[in-house]
Amino acid sequence: MKPMSFTPIEEWNIPRLAGPLIISGPCSAESEDQMLETARGIAGLGVHVFRAGIWKPRTRPGSFEGVGSVGLNWLRRVRQETGLLTATEVANVKHVYEALRAGVDIIWVGARTSVNPFAIQEIADALRGVDIPVLVKNPVNPDLDLWMGAIERFHEAGIRKLAALHRGFCGLEQSPLRNEPYWHLVIELRRRIPRIPLICDPSHIAGRRDMIPELAQHAMRLDYQGLMVESHRRPEEALSDAKQQLTFDELKSLLGSLVVLHSDIEDRDVKLKIQELRSEIDQLDLALIRNLGKRMAVARRIGALKKEHSIALFQSERWSEIVDRSHERARREQLDEGFIDDIFQTIHQESIREQERS
Ligand code: PEP
Ligand code: MN
Repeated sequence: MKPMSFTPIEEWNIPRLAGPLIISGPCSAESEDQMLETARGIAGLGVHVFRAGIWKPRTRPGSFEGVGSVGLNWLRRVRQETGLLTATEVANVKHVYEALRAGVDIIWVGARTSVNPFAIQEIADALRGVDIPVLVKNPVNPDLDLWMGAIERFHEAGIRKLAALHRGFCGLEQSPLRNEPYWHLVIELRRRIPRIPLICDPSHIAGRRDMIPELAQHAMRLDYQGLMVESHRRPEEALSDAKQQLTFDELKSLLGSLVVLHSDIEDRDVKLKIQELRSEIDQLDLALIRNLGKRMAVARRIGALKKEHSIALFQSERWSEIVDRSHERARREQLDEGFIDDIFQTIHQESIREQERS
């Protein structure tokens, strides 16, 4: 993969930006009045960009599908009246042209569009030569390559004010959240595309108001450069995503209590201490891998013996013994039992695979 270059968010010419980029506003544009009242309510809270969905990709027809193009005039009024920049979602080429004509400042592609490379390519081609920030939401399914593919298509079209917008993934596990954050996927994204600007959308991850601050703070801890948070003048009356939109007061308290961390380590002593601890971790990681190698070699020897004497590979009593002992040791080391379970299950599965091969 060719290295990609990005214009950092600080160079996107966002007025009053002095920390993370804060995008907020309703899930959907519902009326001119709702847009203006919401924009006035959040303009002084540290918000830089006003968001509102004009065209809404809904799972089933019959739900509110957005007000359509008329909402673009309302976005324009928001900008004139409050000075906030504006952002909306585009899902096809017609949306792109209309949004550009209406002077929308930032556009994003939604999770249901990122899953479709044809749609992304068409949108990217329509933006060739246009200098507008584009935010790429992760696809609904936890497929990192698909997300990267979408980012690459915009990059290839010459878009450099580009950011990954993390809104969580559909998971199969029972969870209080609407979408699973799978933070590790974002960490891997940043490993593969090192300087990609990252924005978190805790509203669509949470699906409920009360969990948004915690998720937003976690994003700050992971060094995201911005947040997109849904807000509404009266969330309970919202025509879409009513449970996850914040009131003005809730947004104020979220932004007021957000602890923003800096990513560059300036203090020399702290830097050295971190380096020292990191090298300790590197040594421990090495020892872990070496021990796993040794463990698998022993497993292969057991496998050979089992084969020779026609003994079944999986022995449930032995597995229970391993699990019980690992729990006991986990407790002694103050480690989470679930964490140790996950690791041992993976090791045990690999061990069985190795034995099959022997
Ligand atoms: C939205 O931002 O309101 C939206 C529809 O988001 P997503 O594409 O993440 O579902
Ligand atoms: Mn929404």
